[in-house]
Amino acid sequence: MRLLKPAQRVEAVHELNVSELTARGIQGIIIDLDNTLTEWNEYHLCPKVHQWLSDLEVQGIKVCILSNNKEKRVQPFAAGCRIPYYISGARKPRRKGFIRAMQIMGTTPENTIVIGDQIFTDVLGGNRSGIHTVLVNPISRREFFGTRMVRRIERIVLREKKPRSERKKFFVFKRREGQP
Ligand SMILES: [Mg+2]
Repeated sequence: MRLLKPAQRVEAVHELNVSELTARGIQGIIIDLDNTLTEWNEYHLCPKVHQWLSDLEVQGIKVCILSNNKEKRVQPFAAGCRIPYYISGARKPRRKGFIRAMQIMGTTPENTIVIGDQIFTDVLGGNRSGIHTVLVNPISRREFFGTRMVRRIERIVLREKKPRSERKKFFVFKRREGQP
């Protein structure tokens, strides 16, 4: 369960103050695409996110998109918003993509952060890689069918102080899922 807890939670990416990141010594950001930077399968960036990305560039903080989505989705998006580094088909929460992203940016787990909207991919993968994880609220409710199912479990995991009765419910739910 510890690996499913984000180190930090913010409403949206642009709430992460760029000067504060610099002050903390952050040099690289591994960032999810769908519902973190923009809506699922959308290409439009909201002006605030656009500004935030420019501020990062000015401060010299590198950004690498790490997405489980396909190359044909990720590549045009990265090109469109001039993000030089991206990895598609990342298979998060596998560590491989996170490690590769840090290699590309020339950063380490100590001076990198992971930002994403899902705990079973972004947060779990980031925590497993020893990187500071930031969970954002998904931009839109519209998403991949499988993701909508996962959200229901996420809501249970994210409930900070779980009453005993709810905790029990969660485990019953898990056991049921494992049954044929
Ligand atoms: Mg996402």
